[in-house]
Amino acid sequence: MTWHILGAGSLGSLWAVRLARASLPVTLLLRNAEQLAAYRAAGGLALVENGAEQRLAIPAQTLDDPAPIQRLLLACKAYDALGAVQAIAPRLTPDAELILLQNGLGSQQQVTERLPHARCILASSTEGAYRDGPFRVVFAGRGLTWLGDPRAPTPPQWLGELSRAGIPHEWSERIDSRLWRKLALNCAINPLTVLHDCRNGELQAHGDEVAALCAELAELLHACDQDDAASGLLDEVQRVIHATAANSSSMRQDVAAGRRTEIGYLLGHACAEGARRGLRLPRLTALLQALRAHLRARGLPDT
Ligand code: NAP
Repeated sequence: MTWHILGAGSLGSLWAVRLARASLPVTLLLRNAEQLAAYRAAGGLALVENGAEQRLAIPAQTLDDPAPIQRLLLACKAYDALGAVQAIAPRLTPDAELILLQNGLGSQQQVTERLPHARCILASSTEGAYRDGPFRVVFAGRGLTWLGDPRAPTPPQWLGELSRAGIPHEWSERIDSRLWRKLALNCAINPLTVLHDCRNGELQAHGDEVAALCAELAELLHACDQDDAASGLLDEVQRVIHATAANSSSMRQDVAAGRRTEIGYLLGHACAEGARRGLRLPRLTALLQALRAHLRARGLPDT
């Protein structure tokens, strides 16, 4: 069974190279003929790991290729996911399975609703990778990918292929709880690092602000029936701030590089869920307004 991978960006490439190295069939899905030509000119996909580069000529095709797709790893950003799935939908077989790598909440749910007959497996990853050139990706942080399906607890057969490819993963029967917890951690840390323009560790000087946000986030999580995700939130946020003190958050890096953020699926989603439930979340709401203004002032989308 071929692994079709949509999005030859950071995570898509990281998965593609490891699967291909394990002799599993992989096909990359690129936007258009120009991207395909650029990919071929680059000689394939390069992964830099522990300072060593390995380039593999993994087969690639454009989105509008007619070949059917049974297994799809959706590796684009949250704001591109629904559009990408709409473009690829005619190629999906009736028993297609999708693995959705998007961060935050909202986009995986949009895709699942758009494809009611496909099996959509939701992922939450702590691995880290970034692009440092065309079709060249650096493996920057070891981690783990949680996978789960809120509609069916049985793990898929192909998890063994991930083990064979050396992709650390774990099946989760409560993937929604993991996604909510990650969203809450992100909301408590990333927007503040953008607004204070600081590394994660410098948030230790803003302890009251962080604690007040965690209290509102916990209230939201309880209201969304996510008690497990709310438990010990502030402690974990403080641990993460300490353990990643020297890091620049992904949102801060995006803003610094003039890239669109996934705010609409992170803090934006949290505030929208709070509003839908009639909650008063003044700190989170003010944070969202300040972040949106900050993005607009830099000419970046605020959703
Ligand atoms: P990325 O480097 O920007 O890669 C996304 C790729 O998807 C780009 O190559 C983009 O092409 C492509 N794409 C978008 N729409 C497409 C379409 N319709 N057809 C074909 N290709 C399309 O993003 P990423 O960092 O891998 O992130 C993917 C998701 O994983 C995000 O939600 C992110 O938050 C999450 N995540 C990332 C990391 C990480 O370390 N990178 C870690 C954990 C979670 P263009 O370049 O042409 O736009």
